[in-house]
Amino acid sequence: MVLQVIRFFNKVFTRRVSSHTRSIIFRQLFDDVSSTYTYLLGCPITRECLLIDPVVEHSKRDFKLTKDLRLQLKFAINTHMHADHITGTGYLKALSGCKSVISKASGAQADILIDESDIIQFGDHILKVFSTPGHTNGCCTYYLPEQEIAFTGDALLIRGCGRTDFQEGNPRTLYRSVHDKIFTLPKNTILYPAHDYHGMMCTSVDEEKRLNPRLTKSEDEFVEIMNNLNLGYPKQIDKALPANKVCGVFDIPKDEPLDEV
Ligand code: FE
Repeated sequence: MVLQVIRFFNKVFTRRVSSHTRSIIFRQLFDDVSSTYTYLLGCPITRECLLIDPVVEHSKRDFKLTKDLRLQLKFAINTHMHADHITGTGYLKALSGCKSVISKASGAQADILIDESDIIQFGDHILKVFSTPGHTNGCCTYYLPEQEIAFTGDALLIRGCGRTDFQEGNPRTLYRSVHDKIFTLPKNTILYPAHDYHGMMCTSVDEEKRLNPRLTKSEDEFVEIMNNLNLGYPKQIDKALPANKVCGVFDIPKDEPLDEV
């Protein structure tokens, strides 16, 4: 009888674990020139993986990591058309044969153009696409519902947010994107931004709702703050935007053989 009870609980417990806590492979990578985070997400069952916001100078590092982890790169995705670095998606396509992905609203070229509510599938996992414009027209947040993790790009940074004074930026639109989309995710959702300049690596919906110095203000106060930041002209913008419109392919270093990876 005791054995039967143990078997029963084992069966129930095993079913709960297998259906609710599918593990994922996750790595956070960094570019110290632009303070950009790149994220690797992989399915441990099918070995398919994707990269979010790769930087061209680290394409070989990122591709090598996928190989080290015995993963197959399916997608190289951008949260938006970046102005501060050149994307690695074009180079990664050449290295791995993966597909590049960006939002339709970004105006950039890619193999797959996505929109609000689209789903990006890799192995047994999905990323849900939320359109979160305001920093740029084409900004997206990618949400991994099983793990309650979201990748916010520049829409929401740790105790900050992306600037809104160039590239179709609009503070009112950004405020609504954060409050109506990101802040409506479960409060324990862990948020991974595209950048951090202070050594922080992630935050949560709860933290930002309580502590973000800009986004805890009213919409009008937020607009006032954003319109008076007086930030300098982005250093790499003149080089980065034309390259990023075409997956950064014009900036693939030509003197480096691809088979060195
Ligand atoms: Fe940006």
